[in-house]
Amino acid sequence: MKVLILGNGQLGQMLGQASIQLGDECLLINTRTNEVMPVGSHQALSWSVTDAMAWADVVSWEHEQISDQHVALAKAKLLTNPEQIKPLTHRQLEKAMFDRLNLGTAPWQAFNNAAELADILAAWQGRAVIKAAEGGYDGKGQWRWQPGDDVQPLLDTAGQQPGIVEAMIPFHCEVSIVGARTKTGDTHCYPLVENIHRDGILSHTLAGISALPSHLQAVAEQWFATLTTDLGYVGTLAIEFFVVGEGQAATLLINEVAPRVHNSGHWSLTGSNCSQFSLHMRAITGAPIPPLSIQPTLMLNVIGVDSIPAFFWQHAQAAPFWYGKEARPGRKVGHINIALAEQEPAQAWVDQYATSLQLLSNEAS
Ligand code: ADP
Ligand code: MG
Repeated sequence: MKVLILGNGQLGQMLGQASIQLGDECLLINTRTNEVMPVGSHQALSWSVTDAMAWADVVSWEHEQISDQHVALAKAKLLTNPEQIKPLTHRQLEKAMFDRLNLGTAPWQAFNNAAELADILAAWQGRAVIKAAEGGYDGKGQWRWQPGDDVQPLLDTAGQQPGIVEAMIPFHCEVSIVGARTKTGDTHCYPLVENIHRDGILSHTLAGISALPSHLQAVAEQWFATLTTDLGYVGTLAIEFFVVGEGQAATLLINEVAPRVHNSGHWSLTGSNCSQFSLHMRAITGAPIPPLSIQPTLMLNVIGVDSIPAFFWQHAQAAPFWYGKEARPGRKVGHINIALAEQEPAQAWVDQYATSLQLLSNEAS
């Protein structure tokens, strides 16, 4: 089949790569310039977006900021209605959706201006995270607050746009479920993976080695099915959770949903028989999906540095992925999948290499 992806960043490239294995053809749209790009090259084709849309059997996306222009051109070739996923790009609507579907989430309140934010904080009990309704990613567009803190600086920043105040959750750990829903409504999920963030940005993911209480998998899969069915979603999607409590008492709270392939699924490029990218392509083209296997893998993000050291390119356990992007602090420029030997502690890799592979801010250097 011929697949057109809206967006030509690293996620689009990895979707394109997956399409090759399946014998499909794939083109990407640079959604900022409207250039039509082949997979694996920065050389635009002399096609218009309209040409590419006419060429495609199916249109999908690597990011959820879909313009009305692209929606109008893609028409029936999009399998998920972009209107349906719009709430996921707006924190107030997203949290309201979790409440409507009875999916546990951190207590929250919406504000639309500084005065409303001030009123909420005046009555707020405990620590809070304030999040801009739109545009935040990798911990950007977020502020922390606790009783006794001066409110004015927050009103001058967070209060300048609509947003939410959310209770700060003392979580045991953070996990995500990545899976896909097919055109016929079946869902296929990987086991939950554990995500460790530094400064609000994903540092690394542990797949296949987490000692998570087993009942959480069933809950996560149930919520995945509830949510994707409600959205009428087709393709790969990720849900981020906080795990609260331990052992049999552990419960999940939904943090946010990414209606696309997701950084916390990158381990699957080498740690599964079917990567999250292949899963997405199979879901949207109707190709068969196998039982999803998982090999113990550590996915270490490469952030803000100029290159991945030769050590990793030469290491038998490491599969580095370099995105070919210009480095700046806090920007994800690659990742490294480490295949873990039996009983090998992932933490040793993290302790030894994470800091040198991750330049989060100018100060951190
Ligand atoms: P994004 O990933 O879009 O930047 P998130 O809402 O996932 O935004 O927040 C980034 C990280 O900040 C989370 O993974 C988590 O580590 C932390 N965080 C966000 N909200 C809360 C909260 N309510 N309680 C505790 N930690 C939080
Ligand atoms: Mg997040």
